[in-house]
Amino acid sequence: MGNRTKKLTIAIDGHSSCGKSTVAKDLAKVLGYTYIDSGAMYRSVTLFCMVNDLIEGDYVNEEKLKTSIQDFTVHFTFDAANQRYITWMNHQEVEDKIRTLAVSNNVSAVSKIGFVREKLVKLQQEMGKNGGIVMDGRDIGTVVFPNAELKIFMTASAQVRAQRRFDEIKAAGLEVSFQEVLDNIEKRDYMDANREISPLRKADDAVILDNSYLTKKEQLDKLIELVNQRNK
Ligand code: C5P
Repeated sequence: MGNRTKKLTIAIDGHSSCGKSTVAKDLAKVLGYTYIDSGAMYRSVTLFCMVNDLIEGDYVNEEKLKTSIQDFTVHFTFDAANQRYITWMNHQEVEDKIRTLAVSNNVSAVSKIGFVREKLVKLQQEMGKNGGIVMDGRDIGTVVFPNAELKIFMTASAQVRAQRRFDEIKAAGLEVSFQEVLDNIEKRDYMDANREISPLRKADDAVILDNSYLTKKEQLDKLIELVNQRNK
């Protein structure tokens, strides 16, 4: 399908933990497109701050970060054997480290910093400049690719999202309470929607996809249908 038709730019934005990346990866696979997880990029800068002692509670040492971010790099590889994307920060594998609750708790404070967003948006635009890309995040349809041919705004209720995330963390053998996960999701929703620069909002031309009661297959089918409409 991907080879016969125009290579679209597909932006998938929405709330935390509503399964954007799962469906975005599946869609990229079906279409033969590149998948980019922009959240992993913000998580990597956050980890970078944590390992360099630039963050304490909600306080980020912006002055030091501004200088040291020049040494920050991030890239992705695809591990075909395990069908898994891997995030690399400064050429070190960080895929698991960036998914911890500690990083989740700090990421909003880092992602609201203007120069961090500027740097990552530029990298994202560079990664997607040839089209044939599915990128998920918070500002992809509004800021990174305002001309994307297909924009999706995904959401699900906070309870449903927290339950899914809780199940995932438990399945990975980590200790966490449901309330902690729910609190993190609600706090991130609030901070993402209320930050000054590039707050999370639906682009005017985005299609809303509420997946509270959709299976993974149903939501993927809906997206494929939307892609087919754009390709007519
Ligand atoms: O998508 P994920 O939940 O991994 O993103 C982690 C955090 O990164 C979000 O809570 C948000 O603060 C930030 N983010 C962002 N803009 C994006 C993607 C993620 O601000 N495009």
